[in-house]
Amino acid sequence: MATMIANDCINCGACEPECPNNAISQGDPIFVIDPLLCTECVGFHDYEACAAVCPVDVCITDPNNIESEEALIARARALHPETNFGDSFESRFRKGQDKAAAAPASAPAQTPGTRAPASAAAAPVTAGAVSAFAEADVDYFELPPIDSWNIPMRCYKCNQVHEENVKQFMIGNVIFCPHCHKSTFVRDNLNYHIRTLLKDAYDQWDNQQTEFAEQRERERTQFLERRTKEAESFKNRQKRDLEKIRQDLDTIGDQYDAAGKPYKKGSSFSWG
Ligand code: SF4
Ligand code: SF4
Repeated sequence: MATMIANDCINCGACEPECPNNAISQGDPIFVIDPLLCTECVGFHDYEACAAVCPVDVCITDPNNIESEEALIARARALHPETNFGDSFESRFRKGQDKAAAAPASAPAQTPGTRAPASAAAAPVTAGAVSAFAEADVDYFELPPIDSWNIPMRCYKCNQVHEENVKQFMIGNVIFCPHCHKSTFVRDNLNYHIRTLLKDAYDQWDNQQTEFAEQRERERTQFLERRTKEAESFKNRQKRDLEKIRQDLDTIGDQYDAAGKPYKKGSSFSWG
């Protein structure tokens, strides 16, 4: 773990639902992060989701537990075996890099566990700089026409196997073995059994595919809503930080009283 919650946590609970690994829980007396579950959001975001929403900025790097990106993505893979993270996964270590051009192994990496230094002057960020969410379409299998199936039959007379199209299994139909020419009479229960099996299988196939597609669409919508919320939350946090910087500088300006320097009461730095 390289993220921990400091003692100044106010127990607001905002961070808990944001963690993609369910690593955060209510502890006593404050919320805690399970070091065996935290991946610093590597694999999911290029920032720590808990830190992005924390109103008092107490989700911080644990200086006594620094981990590399390799260790963190390995943990994410172990925690989410159903997810294919690929090589161009989200990671704060790669923030600002082109995800399509995954960082080669030989590329110079940021020192593990260190956060990128803030620039000296806050520069406005273009809103459209974040890449749009995109995912590959599912390549669904298509079932063949229901009457195109062939069914293997073993002749009770010569014991050889031959295939007959499903349409041949109509009640009363006579099927001849192509090897010994022995005939078989299609009984009602055989025809009924085959038709029922195919119809049930096709219905189930359609229902499962529809449910799967609808579930993915629901998850995609929720994912996009969550990212919008995260972006809004992060923006608000930056706004608060900016205001604090302004207030701190105003305080310094108000309180500055250099010896021998003319003092004008009420002076302060001004902001454009
Ligand atoms: S850094 Fe990410 S993975 Fe770790 S506790 Fe925070 S939200 Fe969870
Ligand atoms: S968001 Fe911050 S203050 Fe709120 S519970 Fe989490 S760590 Fe504590």
